[in-house]
Amino acid sequence: MGTDIAIAQSNKMLPITQIGQKLGLSADDLELYGNYKAKLSTNALAKNASKPLGKLVLITAMNPTPAGEGKSTIMIGLADALQKIGQKSMVAMREPSLGPVMGIKGGAAGGGYAQVVPMEDINLHFTGDMHALTAAINTLAALIDSHLQHGNQLQIDPRTITWQRALDVNDRALRNTVIGMGGATSGVVREEHFQITVASEMMAVLCLAKDRSDLKQRISNVLIGYTFNKQPVFVRDLRAQGALTLLLKDAIKPNLVQTLEHTPVLIHGGPFANIAHGCNSIIATDAALHLSDYVLTEAGFGADLGAEKFLDIVTPKLAKKPDASVLVATIRSLKYNGGQTLDHTQEEDLTALRAGFANLQRHILNLQKFGLPVLVAINQFAGDTPAEIDLLQKLCSQLDVKAYPVTVYQDGSLGATELAQALVDLPDTAQYHRMYSDQEDISTKINKVAREIYGAKSVAFSKKALRQIKQIEQQQWSDLPICIAKTQYSFSDDPKLLGAPTDFVLNVQEVNANLGAGFLVILTNNVLTMPGLPSQPAALKMDIAADDTITGLF
Ligand code: ADP
Repeated sequence: MGTDIAIAQSNKMLPITQIGQKLGLSADDLELYGNYKAKLSTNALAKNASKPLGKLVLITAMNPTPAGEGKSTIMIGLADALQKIGQKSMVAMREPSLGPVMGIKGGAAGGGYAQVVPMEDINLHFTGDMHALTAAINTLAALIDSHLQHGNQLQIDPRTITWQRALDVNDRALRNTVIGMGGATSGVVREEHFQITVASEMMAVLCLAKDRSDLKQRISNVLIGYTFNKQPVFVRDLRAQGALTLLLKDAIKPNLVQTLEHTPVLIHGGPFANIAHGCNSIIATDAALHLSDYVLTEAGFGADLGAEKFLDIVTPKLAKKPDASVLVATIRSLKYNGGQTLDHTQEEDLTALRAGFANLQRHILNLQKFGLPVLVAINQFAGDTPAEIDLLQKLCSQLDVKAYPVTVYQDGSLGATELAQALVDLPDTAQYHRMYSDQEDISTKINKVAREIYGAKSVAFSKKALRQIKQIEQQQWSDLPICIAKTQYSFSDDPKLLGAPTDFVLNVQEVNANLGAGFLVILTNNVLTMPGLPSQPAALKMDIAADDTITGLF
């Protein structure tokens, strides 16, 4: 098999206007970015808003190995398979961040014969949304620092500023910096801690906004710090919401592209799931629901992080509750979670697989707790043996859950027709409900997710977290959903605790109010909001030749 980029580049794309036509969209409904990418115009969104809603399917996964277990790949292949069996399907997914693209994980446009194209554009600058967000984030930071410089009328205490600069790069050197050095004309000296763009509240604001006026409202509400008298200061106090909304005027429109098999895909917004809420925009998912009969959407990392946040934070804001979930599992991740080392996960090991099933089982039960029917997709890799696949199917059937081997990476849509048919045949049994209500107190909400979803025995709060909770309660900001930042490798906050641990304490270090996004961020042990590059970053393998041939982009 060729590399992802070789497969993608040898594929013949349809003009994006033809993909639009499949959805009943005219040329006027699309804002073209070349021949193969377009944004849906505001008019197109409004025009389709009264159409009936399709079925919504959440794609999620068990806890991953560091390589990723193939959620995007399965979602894209499954949408193609639905199309193949005669259904009108669409994908609503996140935009890749350049941090992981240049770092270790690779792209986020699927893989093999289940990809979204043009993958090189999608993985690099795409339609510029990420850059627009970065500009908005840093414009706000500059406006805050300029306010300090020019007399500080609002009396902002520089030591309490919570708004952080951002770049869409994995750059650990910017985690802790000092800005404003160089004398009286170069600003006020203070600490700065850069985030990666996809971890910034601005990304969450864009993804949770319903429309442009909601976007402006949310930006107005962003908390940027406190005065010397400990009073909160918001973006609206700086009167910056107009300019910031303006900077995002195009970024708020979803991007239309296609799969290798010409299924329409909306790619829009891309918050990380370990340190943010991990789901594409509400605008894109709602638009897709109005435009097709089946919408597949993915929530980042394992179901403990992404799916929980999709169901507790995002779903209440969507036009429709999910109808089903597809839980992606790999034989390698099961063995890894069962104690096998990463270098040996290619070897058949039924004992490790059986032990690692505990991880998948907890994710299945968790999704059922939210009231969702679950289908397991076994993302098949070259080395998986028939005995391993067979054992996994048996273990799932003992829980009354069907597991389908899927080979979309190798075979495109043909690799998921059985799963697609199962999805179509699934009776309407979903009875969605949340894990907590926003009105419960903060510690109850955290305890519910920690115990019910993660399997923790208890939650420990740092002194700082307790102080912050008290402050949030005093300000009456408690009635918001919680967004827990945690490692993606484990149900716990310790990346080494694999499988389905129970005897652990979840350590809450900080609780911050993201009032624009409309959630409380709960930081657990060791989460970094600015990743670093590995010793051998993917970037070092990338190149482009004189004839435009791209190599190394996976
Ligand atoms: P996730 O969405 O869970 O992070 P991706 O779908 O992005 O995972 O896949 C992660 C990486 O694994 C991608 O580079 C993809 O090409 C590769 N991949 C996915 N499925 C397979 C498979 N069955 N065989 C080989 N490589 C795969």
